[in-house]
Amino acid sequence: MGRQDRRQQARDSDDDDTPGPAECCWLCLRPLGDQIDRYHLIPKSRAKSRDDKTTVPVHPICRRTVEAVFTNAELARNAGNREKLIEHPEIERFLGWVTDKAADFDAPVAPRRKR
Ligand SMILES: [Zn+2]
Repeated sequence: MGRQDRRQQARDSDDDDTPGPAECCWLCLRPLGDQIDRYHLIPKSRAKSRDDKTTVPVHPICRRTVEAVFTNAELARNAGNREKLIEHPEIERFLGWVTDKAADFDAPVAPRRKR
């Protein structure tokens, strides 16, 4: 009888009706945890109009990684084009590494290399 109860529960949790639309990270597309950062698609210092102030939800580690890999000038040029960002080998490597981490996983991000 106890075994049957457990099986019933397992079937229930397999249902697709998860409560509410889970917000996902704009960069890595994993579900967001408790810590949600807003990423400015166009760097604040470069925003020219109200339309430029669009932000998207990201993990803190994802925002820091993007900001460590790209300069503000590069980010402004990409203008929030995710395809462009994830083409970068360092972002690609980061996404492959972070994909199986917990939503609230955080770690120090290596500072931007001098160029
Ligand atoms: Zn993320």
